[in-house]
Amino acid sequence: TDLFQSPDYFQVDELLTEEQKMVRDTVRSYVKKEISPVIEDYAQRAEFPEHIVRQMGELGCFGPTIPVEYGGGGLDYISYGLMMQELERGDSGVRSTASVQGSLVMFPIYAYGSEEQRRKYLPKLASGEWLGCFGLTEPDHGSNPSGMLSNFSDAGDHYVLNGSKMWISNAPYAQVAVVWAKDEAGEIRGLILERGMEGFTTPTTHGKWSLRASATGELVFHDVKVPKENLLPDIKGLKGPLSCLTKARYGIAWGALGAAMDCYDTALRYSKERIQFDKPIGAFQLQQKKLAEMITEITKAQLLVWRLGVLMNEGKATPQQVSMAKRNSCEIAADITRDARQVLGGMGITGEYSIMRHMMNIESVLTYEGTHDVHLLITGMDVTGFNAFK
Ligand code: FAD
Repeated sequence: TDLFQSPDYFQVDELLTEEQKMVRDTVRSYVKKEISPVIEDYAQRAEFPEHIVRQMGELGCFGPTIPVEYGGGGLDYISYGLMMQELERGDSGVRSTASVQGSLVMFPIYAYGSEEQRRKYLPKLASGEWLGCFGLTEPDHGSNPSGMLSNFSDAGDHYVLNGSKMWISNAPYAQVAVVWAKDEAGEIRGLILERGMEGFTTPTTHGKWSLRASATGELVFHDVKVPKENLLPDIKGLKGPLSCLTKARYGIAWGALGAAMDCYDTALRYSKERIQFDKPIGAFQLQQKKLAEMITEITKAQLLVWRLGVLMNEGKATPQQVSMAKRNSCEIAADITRDARQVLGGMGITGEYSIMRHMMNIESVLTYEGTHDVHLLITGMDVTGFNAFK
């Protein structure tokens, strides 16, 4: 087949159900047909391919683990992971759009929303009729969101929201925003905002060298009147946004691996075809070292995320395990993109191949949803019992 070759050195496929493989192959063919041929061009122009939102909705990439009655896929966590792996094989920005929509917008509405909120928002978000964004990070509060300044007060029949958010994926195109802000008691709460509310704007962030095919923006709130029914009733405190991030990070652990797989595939193929000194470069030991280390790390990470998926399905995965897997996949993806780039020599820096785009994308993936450092500190705290954050 001319589908992507999926590195599967330890026959991890045998650990997957028929349904999981079907989900993976469906998304893989979609990426091959609709994403890969166009994404480099969108990334070069720093443009968001807005038309893919509907396509991904139809394919079931939004909220795959959310029950079918709310428009979700009713699938298990390994299917969700495989979807993210295949989307990010195409582009980390495309996977980011899906992660935000499913894990950061649909999940909190499903888990903490009222029945009316679920019925109003989830089906339209699942189908891609509406795009959503998630506002947690602020200009002065990134790794430490508990210090956030965005706040709202009670004005009788509505709330009044003030503040701003920064680095918000999907923001410039979103119809719906799940925003985290403090109430008068200083408690973090979730609010659902809609485009068009007076005083609410979403200026675009320009000049990124990473995730160029994903739209990023700010959320600015100037005395925004938010109807009281738009408050998420069932969650208070930082655990609201953090629980969403655990779901999204789980998807990133699979996703970053997809980017790594694509770079490995490309480098392996190139190493067999490119002749220097009368030999394919893949016949030289130094290139074999790079390729052998890539497939070793990909294989280890595949087994880690598969096991994490089983634990997620059983409701036993801890946020600390998710942190470790997110961090590991990002780290190996960063290393693999750089090594693969070298295998391609000068060709590796061009848009003829996906490697340099993946490399630049992974820089954001290393940083968002908890930085590489922060996830290390989470593991450090988990094993020692000492908090090294403060
Ligand atoms: P800082 O927190 O200022 O960190 C700077 C450096 O200091 C990092 O290396 C960090 O590891 C280190 N550091 C911080 N604290 C400690 C500590 N205690 N000990 C040791 N080192 C420390 N946010 C959203 O809410 N929604 C989104 O949709 C979203 N999308 C994004 C898309 C992109 C392309 C990017 C780049 C970011 C996005 N983010 C989003 C924001 C992202 O989550 C933050 O950038 C991230 O949390 C880090 O915050 P910061 O950039 O303010 O860095």
